[in-house]
Amino acid sequence: MMAQYIEIKAANTDCLLFYRMGDFYELFFEDAEIASRALGIVLTKRGKHGGADIPMCGVPVERSDDYLSRLIALGHRVAVCAQTEDPADAKKRGPKSVVRREVVRLVTPGTITEDRLLDPARANVLLAIGRRKADIDHVYGLAALDISTGRFSLSEVPATELASAIARHEPREIVLSETIHDDPALARLWREVPAPVTPLAQAELEPAAAERRIKAQFGVSTLDGFGQFGRAEIAAAGAALLYIERTQIGARPTLSPPTREATGATLAIDASTRANLELTRTLSGERRGSLLDAIDRTVSASGARLLAEHLAGPLTDLDAIRRRHAAVAWLTEQGVSRKAFREILARAPDLARALSRLGLGRGGPRDLAALRDGLDAAQALATRLSTLDGLPDDLATLGERLRHVDAALVTHLRAALADDLPLKRTDGGFVREGYSPEIDECRVLGQDSRKVIAALQARYAEETGCRTLRIKHNNMLGYYIEVPQAVGETCLKGVMRETFIHRQTMVDAMRFTSVELGDLEGRIAGATDRALALETAVFDGLCGEVLAQAGAIAQVADALAALDVAASHADLAVERDWRRPVVDDGYDFTVTGGRHPVVEAALRLSGEPFIANDCDLSGEGRGRIRLITGPNMGGKSTFLRQNALIAVLAQIGAFVPATSARLGLVDRLFSRVGAADDLARGQSTFMVEMVETAAILNQATRRSLVILDEIGRGTATFDGLSIAWACLEHLHEKNACRALFATHFHELTALGQRLSHLDNATLKVAEHRGTVVFLHEVVPGVADRSYGLQVARLAGLPPGVIARAGAILKNLEKSERDRPTRPRIDDLPLFAALSAPPMEEVEPEREDGLRLVLDGIDPDALTPREALDALYRLKAAR
Ligand code: ADP
Repeated sequence: MMAQYIEIKAANTDCLLFYRMGDFYELFFEDAEIASRALGIVLTKRGKHGGADIPMCGVPVERSDDYLSRLIALGHRVAVCAQTEDPADAKKRGPKSVVRREVVRLVTPGTITEDRLLDPARANVLLAIGRRKADIDHVYGLAALDISTGRFSLSEVPATELASAIARHEPREIVLSETIHDDPALARLWREVPAPVTPLAQAELEPAAAERRIKAQFGVSTLDGFGQFGRAEIAAAGAALLYIERTQIGARPTLSPPTREATGATLAIDASTRANLELTRTLSGERRGSLLDAIDRTVSASGARLLAEHLAGPLTDLDAIRRRHAAVAWLTEQGVSRKAFREILARAPDLARALSRLGLGRGGPRDLAALRDGLDAAQALATRLSTLDGLPDDLATLGERLRHVDAALVTHLRAALADDLPLKRTDGGFVREGYSPEIDECRVLGQDSRKVIAALQARYAEETGCRTLRIKHNNMLGYYIEVPQAVGETCLKGVMRETFIHRQTMVDAMRFTSVELGDLEGRIAGATDRALALETAVFDGLCGEVLAQAGAIAQVADALAALDVAASHADLAVERDWRRPVVDDGYDFTVTGGRHPVVEAALRLSGEPFIANDCDLSGEGRGRIRLITGPNMGGKSTFLRQNALIAVLAQIGAFVPATSARLGLVDRLFSRVGAADDLARGQSTFMVEMVETAAILNQATRRSLVILDEIGRGTATFDGLSIAWACLEHLHEKNACRALFATHFHELTALGQRLSHLDNATLKVAEHRGTVVFLHEVVPGVADRSYGLQVARLAGLPPGVIARAGAILKNLEKSERDRPTRPRIDDLPLFAALSAPPMEEVEPEREDGLRLVLDGIDPDALTPREALDALYRLKAAR
């Protein structure tokens, strides 16, 4: 057996091997050590290998799902090795032969389908990545596939967008070619993505093989029917399907035909912006406290998944956004119907996941029931929708989709399935009484036989005169007659000698069988086996019917989810007084009475009001860029984020927490918020900050929305100030985007006079008997002071320290005042440079360092090396 184990393990070195032995999956050697530690189960030993004990631990097959889910959550992969023949057959081959075993499935984070292993409210995305060479850089193809629901989408992105596209999919697992994996330019990305990355051998990923796999999966002879896919997308789809083949070993999931996302169809949000804005999870990784958590009013798992998906990829298609708004608006007006819809949706089981399990041959009777009830709910919704007037486009289409499945299927499922259903098909008893005369007949036979056994027991009791005689059943003996030891002895000698056949003598009992009992047993077993065989055939038949309509069912599932999401937005809007935003192709950003959805909800719990604030970045009269100064705790970050979140909400098709909002479509959202040290990445706070800022300055377009909080903080004051200054200018002149820029550098506010599209704003503060009161109101202007000491006092710094700091501050301020010529901001060389006329107008006699170096250069006399040195000198003189 160990030899067999070692052979199988050798072929699955990157997985923990669950090796089936009877009712347990056993793990050996290092696997056992890893699993016992991870699962907190006892490590034992069994036999020896190379003279040393073999460590072993095991988990019961019945409860293996729980253990699997914990191992998967910890990032392990598990190869499930089953017994693929009856142990009795192995014995026939010889006393020492080992039962045949094979790995029947690899369980990996991106390929699970079991409800117990899945998060109901989250898609389980396997992301495959392919690429092709383009003019300058590579173009990447992404195949996002969720086998637990069958969703399959393809997209292509330029190299610069790869990281944000990956972040959007929140994959559970990534697969790609070795070449992409080993590309040094991407090494950091693979290190940082929060999902396991599995490289596949290049040789298996040839374009022809990829195409073949796609055709085979969808049973088509050409891919033309799916639309135009790029080569990188085909490579990605091929890699995804190869990985599915490899992990599912023979089972083929039912996948929806791949949908293609046009480049730029979603609002690009890079990974750090997603994290900073806490869209789907908070910075500490939890769903609670995220925007998703604050807006999720969905009542079904598929609705919750779709909402998360929407939030991860807000739209950039104006029409689609407006259609979603129209659906939400209509639903806000239909209080009664909305409530009814939500009640029906809440009852509807998860169609997509049940369908996927049935497709993979892992489904049970309850999955069929899920389809029955889900489709039933869909019909009920469709009927209700059709009675209502003035349906907006999206809801009308959705109503039609809900009817896509042939109603006969539901009728059939209803007729065939019993009310109480077992978990597993092999448990039997799931076909409704009256559905199949044959099954009923077998059942009657089984039940009758039990009655006959009871009668037999009574008769034997009478004949032996033993009232405690019982007919029992166990797996070893089957049915047997049990009497106390003393009675047994007399039976053997007395009247029952002919009837009772001795089987076993226990400490205080004896066990017998009889010809009659043997016959009966045969009949019972036969009837049960036959009933089960008949039930299995019914199950397979129903499965076949369901799978024949898999495509239509998937559409119904999508429609249910979409209705749930729209109703969720409407519910929230009504309850919280959120309003329909206007989104157009202009460049406005006018929010009145805006609130932060998460902070507002948190404050509501403590009974405090949230102060609503306006924000106008339309650039008409007022600036496109708002520079915000104000004390710590004043509400700067909250204001910045709330406006970014309003843009996200508007573009996912939701209403927004504001009294009104007009937004020109945003193509990319950037943020540089907070300064969390990223020691894990081995980068200083400042470096991270600069990398993120660089990405913004290089990529933001006029359509983008940029949120910058405290840039330049991580370095010495003048460095930081200069960097913040230059960035602000760049945003203003080059990017020309809409931006909110919070800063501690009060010096920057002087820029408001020079840059025509920059305005200053500050957070209002009141002082009351030396204590600062934050009013959280954003007003035009500049903060008069920073209130650092007051905030420090609020934070609980010891009074002695506060008093001492107060004294020091006074001194500092005094010496500053007493300086004979205190430089004004414009006198600082840095700022003077700006007020200086442009280079070419500088009078020739005015010399500076740069000029001196320039004059010393005679280009014709330079070697290439000297030219380079000269360039360096010029740089240094700058
Ligand atoms: P800053 O970035 O200026 O240091 P924050 O935005 O972090 O300040 O806000 C500090 C706290 O003030 C928040 O946690 C929140 O409780 C409260 N706050 C911020 N904005 C508002 C507001 N508009 N209305 C009510 N409370 C607010």
